[in-house]
Amino acid sequence: MGVVLRFVLLGTAAGGGFPRWNCACARCAAARDGKLPARGPECAAVTGNSRDWWLLNTSPDIRTQLTAASALWPSPRHTPVRGVLLTDAEANHVAGLSVLRDVPGLKTYASPPVLAALAPARAALDRHDPWEWADSLTEGGFVLAGGLVVTAHPVAGAPPAYVPARASDERWVTAYRVEDLATGCVLVYAPRVHTWSPMLDDLIETADCVVMDGTHFAADETPQAGRRLCVSGPAGSLAALERHPHARRIYTHLTDTNPLLDPASAARAQVTEAGVEVLPDGAEFVI
Ligand SMILES: [Zn+2]
Repeated sequence: MGVVLRFVLLGTAAGGGFPRWNCACARCAAARDGKLPARGPECAAVTGNSRDWWLLNTSPDIRTQLTAASALWPSPRHTPVRGVLLTDAEANHVAGLSVLRDVPGLKTYASPPVLAALAPARAALDRHDPWEWADSLTEGGFVLAGGLVVTAHPVAGAPPAYVPARASDERWVTAYRVEDLATGCVLVYAPRVHTWSPMLDDLIETADCVVMDGTHFAADETPQAGRRLCVSGPAGSLAALERHPHARRIYTHLTDTNPLLDPASAARAQVTEAGVEVLPDGAEFVI
């Protein structure tokens, strides 16, 4: 593999993973029985040269997820993991940072409120081996080792529950646009989207591949589902993604109430018919 944009889905479930350790619903039980594919909490990795890899979020299961992804295995002396791009400060996206604590000089990008919320964790991590912490929303974006140009884009979203002030700030949750300078290929990674916006259409218009929040399938799935973006429905993400048939489109961050977890479900058939994919953990491909 030479100079191309490569991507690995390390985990594709919502925060609790699938099955969730403390849930006995029919789907979690089926996953425990091996009847549905189990999934780890959502995170991913991207590279432009197959040598320098960048993580998109770090789940509590990152050790297991990196162990399962041969592309990210260490050489005798070095890990190919250069750093982390955080979409937000949710515990399931930042908990894996502590697993990576013995990697010297790791560079982590996040928006200013996320960096502020992580101040205590950053101080603890920096005592192991000082890391670089950088503003993901810096003007004009930033360049990563491996020839990637990245911009972060705020999407509507709330701060995590552990933030005491709960200040309203549109920068709490971001999506990433990753462009490979050598090929011009573009990945959009948006695993947490509260409501669809024209900005997302603009972002996806120039993308070759989109990895999108698929937490809930239907608004009546749970009380929370009715208050946020769902896959189905006239205002759902599937209708929006159908406007962009040129791009490879993939759902991630599936919660255990989501029927898309079942390959035999009508929901999965509907999404497949629309040309949008649900892939297993560990799926790796070139963009
Ligand atoms: Zn469950």
